[in-house]
Amino acid sequence: MSKNLNTNEETHESMATALPEFKGYTVDIRLGQFRKVSRKDNPSIEFLDFDSAEGKKLVIEYIQSLDEFSMDADIPEPTDGSCSHKHIELIGKVLGYDIARCIKCGKHFV
Ligand SMILES: [Zn+2]
Repeated sequence: MSKNLNTNEETHESMATALPEFKGYTVDIRLGQFRKVSRKDNPSIEFLDFDSAEGKKLVIEYIQSLDEFSMDADIPEPTDGSCSHKHIELIGKVLGYDIARCIKCGKHFV
């Protein structure tokens, strides 16, 4: 493996930590897949593509669980220190839905 590839790998790792989880899976909208890391006897990663039958079922459930985002709303900063999700960026389209994420906390919106 070249040094270049290793650098890409590290960048990806640090991004992955900010991704939301759903039913034990890490949700990666950009790659279009769910990932489940098992740390039991035999550490392994399970991939579930949004395109697969099981992945599609799960991604529909996930989208239904998301809050709707409003780009123009004037959201007040919460006093308890939680994220107001003011800074939202669109990250992709899944099954016809625009998926956005909060730059600060990584929460997804639809
Ligand atoms: Zn947020």
